[in-house]
Amino acid sequence: MKKGRLFIVSGPSGVGKSTVLRALLAKRENARFSISATTRPMREGEKDGEDYHFVDVQTFREWIAEDDFLEYAEYVGNFYGTPKKFVRAALDAGQDIVLDIEIQGAMQVAERMPDAVKIFIGPPSWEELERRLTSRGTNTPEDIRKRLVRAKVEVRTARDYDYFVVNDAVENAVRELDAIMTAEHCKPIARMQLFAET
Ligand code: 5GP
Repeated sequence: MKKGRLFIVSGPSGVGKSTVLRALLAKRENARFSISATTRPMREGEKDGEDYHFVDVQTFREWIAEDDFLEYAEYVGNFYGTPKKFVRAALDAGQDIVLDIEIQGAMQVAERMPDAVKIFIGPPSWEELERRLTSRGTNTPEDIRKRLVRAKVEVRTARDYDYFVVNDAVENAVRELDAIMTAEHCKPIARMQLFAET
């Protein structure tokens, strides 16, 4: 059976990744979003088990000890991790999986799963990123400052990704991501599976 492909999507906090990915997944039937675990407090409007699995630090540490994560990282004072079982099972079932993870986690996954496609989503400018972070209204000024410092580091690492998508408008970013996913399915590494010896 043809395996699904793994897409790692990273980009600064506030760049609009969640909105873009939601619209992308609505378009691509065979793609699923991997729901991460996090120790960060739930934001207004978020749902446990939908946006994240919200857990306490002790539970997160237990899951690390049980080797339940494909990768995990600390980001601005909280832990985030990708559940291994779901990702492996979905890929084996032929579904594409999209991970929305920051750069340290992205590099861990890329090392373990070298066929993964790494996509970076960037803002059209620093000013626009600050505006988006501020208008979200759920982050403190100190948190925004930390996220902006972090964003500058992240954009510098974008050269290690396979693609760079600029989120100037959601529909543009979705169109580019959709095209990238389609193109990746046309790569020999994906197509040759059709002719694999049994
Ligand atoms: P936020 O707190 O804004 O939801 O997410 C903060 C950062 O954590 C984002 O860059 C997001 O991509 C990243 N993130 C979310 N889930 C995971 C995960 O499972 N692993 C890693 N390494 N990063 C994650």
